[in-house]
Amino acid sequence: MQVLKFGGSSVANSENIEKVAKVIEQKAKEDRTVVVISALAGITDILLDCGNLASEGNDEYKDKLKAAELRHIEVAKNLMPVVHQSRSISNIKQQFNELEDICKGVALLRELSTATKDRLAGFGELLSSQIVAERLIALNIDAAWKDSRELITTDSNFTFATVDFDTTNEEIKNYFLNNHQQITIVPGFIAASNNGKSTTLGRGGSDYTAAIIAAATDANKVEIWTDVTGMMTADPRLVAAAKNIKRISYQEAMELSHFGAKVIYPPTILPVMRKGIPAWIKNTFEPEADGTLIENVSSKDNENIIRGISSVNHVVLLNLEGTGMVGIPGFSKRLFEALASQKVNVILITQASSEHSICVGIESKNITIAKNAIDEAFSYEMAIGILEPLIIEHDLSIVALVGDNMKNHPGISGKMFGALGRNGINVRAIAQGSSEKNISTVISRNDVTKAINVLHEEFFETTYKRIHLFIVGVGNVGSRLLGQIEQQLGYLEEHLQLQIRVAGIANSKKMLFNDEGVNLSDWQSTLQASGETMDMNGFIKTIQSKNLRNAVFADVTANSDIATTYDSLLQKSVAVVACNKIACSSSFDYYKKLKQLSKEFNAPFHFETNVGAGLPVIGTLNDLLRSGDSINKIEAVLSGTLNFVFNNYDGTKPFAEVVRQAQNEGYTEPDPRLDLSGMDVMRKIMILARESGEKLEMEDISNNSFMPESCMQGSVENFYEEMKKHETHFKKLYEAANNAGNKLKFVASFNEGKASVGLQQIPPQHDLYHLYGKDNVVLFYTSRYVQQPLVIKGAGAGADVTASGLFADILRAGR
Ligand code: ADP
Ligand code: ASP
Ligand code: MG
Repeated sequence: MQVLKFGGSSVANSENIEKVAKVIEQKAKEDRTVVVISALAGITDILLDCGNLASEGNDEYKDKLKAAELRHIEVAKNLMPVVHQSRSISNIKQQFNELEDICKGVALLRELSTATKDRLAGFGELLSSQIVAERLIALNIDAAWKDSRELITTDSNFTFATVDFDTTNEEIKNYFLNNHQQITIVPGFIAASNNGKSTTLGRGGSDYTAAIIAAATDANKVEIWTDVTGMMTADPRLVAAAKNIKRISYQEAMELSHFGAKVIYPPTILPVMRKGIPAWIKNTFEPEADGTLIENVSSKDNENIIRGISSVNHVVLLNLEGTGMVGIPGFSKRLFEALASQKVNVILITQASSEHSICVGIESKNITIAKNAIDEAFSYEMAIGILEPLIIEHDLSIVALVGDNMKNHPGISGKMFGALGRNGINVRAIAQGSSEKNISTVISRNDVTKAINVLHEEFFETTYKRIHLFIVGVGNVGSRLLGQIEQQLGYLEEHLQLQIRVAGIANSKKMLFNDEGVNLSDWQSTLQASGETMDMNGFIKTIQSKNLRNAVFADVTANSDIATTYDSLLQKSVAVVACNKIACSSSFDYYKKLKQLSKEFNAPFHFETNVGAGLPVIGTLNDLLRSGDSINKIEAVLSGTLNFVFNNYDGTKPFAEVVRQAQNEGYTEPDPRLDLSGMDVMRKIMILARESGEKLEMEDISNNSFMPESCMQGSVENFYEEMKKHETHFKKLYEAANNAGNKLKFVASFNEGKASVGLQQIPPQHDLYHLYGKDNVVLFYTSRYVQQPLVIKGAGAGADVTASGLFADILRAGR
């Protein structure tokens, strides 16, 4: 004997039922077959909804029933040869008349009992299984329909009845001994109480029907046919990269299903496990695919430590605290008895070893009865103050890692909490069963999708880790960055198992979001055509509310408003990468706050490109300090613009023109006065000083500016005009240096806690002398580099090198 069960989506419509009939026909050639059928997709909910509407006196149930009836008739018509149609249709009509009568009764009484709920809900399976049976019989297949209420006996715990296995096994055995059709079709989900009333086995219970029949008949196997190709490492609706599990142990399947893997109804496993009957999960829409085999896999066979990840929503935590429970035996017993007496199922329990508090997770629908039961059971202790009033935390979910083999591998929970922590997912409670087949964490419901994906990336290493990148500023540097990312996507996937999804981009006018990634080959036109109007607040809010994992925000602007948003992002564990210098060079307090938040919320904050564009200046400084070195002195040429200007100015072309050229070639800040005034260099040396541990503000830095005052007043155009007027001033500076055999360099230094910037004449033997084009150089004199400094030198401006520095920061932030 074999038992095949077909779920709701497999019998959603006539087209799918055709597929089911083919599978049955094929399979039944191998062995005698019992076929368990669920209701057409969604029908159980509709029937229960009709009951609820009727109980509220709402007539809408009539239309809903009518629509459901038509749907069944349509299916029957499509499947049955004309000669069989009228019988099938009149049967459907008759059952819908009965349904309507029940609903009328409910409407009159304004009351929907659980017994009536079960009667209503059971019609779905009755109808669908009869249609399938009629279809097979019409094909001249040796098949019969049998009402499973005559096979499975339960108690009267309606909606969630418990099977009386003695009676049930007896009935099933007898039936199959005395009836010899090749195929027997039965409705799933429904059963009957010992006084003959319709009951159901709990939502999703058709799987259980199959297992009960398989165990009673000692079947060779059970196959659960559904709409996915087996049990997967996570719910495929939540994790796009979920993979098929080829083999899984009964225990693991049970844990996964208990913790939310809806693909199999949890009680299903036990009857087949007891009998060692292999269970398969198969896909009706891909019948050749292997699917998943659930069997007695010994731990050694498992190649993966973690088998799967699942989640349960609608959880609340009840926290009972107080001195009254310390060292008192039987305390927890009273708590669990109070809950059990009200049939409240406890999903998870944790207790600190101090025994000062105990915490249980339950389904949120039970919250009122659970609270009342606990308040009543401990009313005395609460009244005299040795127990605090019950604390209830709402809107939670449980995410569980499941695997038989976890107990043999230390460090799994560390890895789990590390990954969650890096993504700012706050863990409210933890439980690990003593069998160590499962580690469960309670988290906010809003974080579930993110958490499952984060854990999936962490534990199924062949899947890709995905960075969700949000970029604001897609001008010169930003567009180069997008170009570089596009070019590297393939390499990163192949070599680093890393996917970058540009989930949002914005310029000053428009913004565009796409969780699956903006197409980088034509982002300009997409942003232009389908972007919304840019609104910085809206952009930040959207990043926060999307709550995507491994989120990185890249600020590729020079905008001061944007610099004020970093704190709110870091607090949501969104990493921040900035080439915008304003945040790090604003008040020391804000800089410090950002560093602090980055630590507290495990959100990287990188700004390597603030100094020396793509040169590894800040990273090197950090490495020196981390490894125990200390900074004695920094000397640097930090302005690509100024270096370009002084390298190209020799009095033959006006100074203003050389500055204009630097701006045209994209080396200057959007406002070139920031470079020429030395302001930009002040910011950079201040950032280096701060990174070295010095508490410095802009006003602490002396600036020996070479620019005539009048150039710096008024507009950018005025600035160029004024520079022209002062050409002799610039020429004098140049000639004085040139006559002495020196070069002009705008030098920044940090020495003994003091920072200064200014124009200097540099003699040929000096380390700063040989510096060409728009290069920057930084000399670090440290405890270890005493005589000869550590030198970092190279192009210190330009869109491509800045973009590559940003790119490296993004990769660092996302790893
Ligand atoms: P049926 O109607 O066939 O009984 P269900 O909807 O009850 O089907 O169960 C199948 C669904 O379970 C799949 O469509 C999938 O979305 C969901 N699911 C949740 N977790 C998992 C998982 N770990 N593996 C496979 N499917 C899962
Ligand atoms: N149709 C029932 C339900 O929706 C049983 C099942 O699908 O297995 O709960
Ligand atoms: Mg199901």
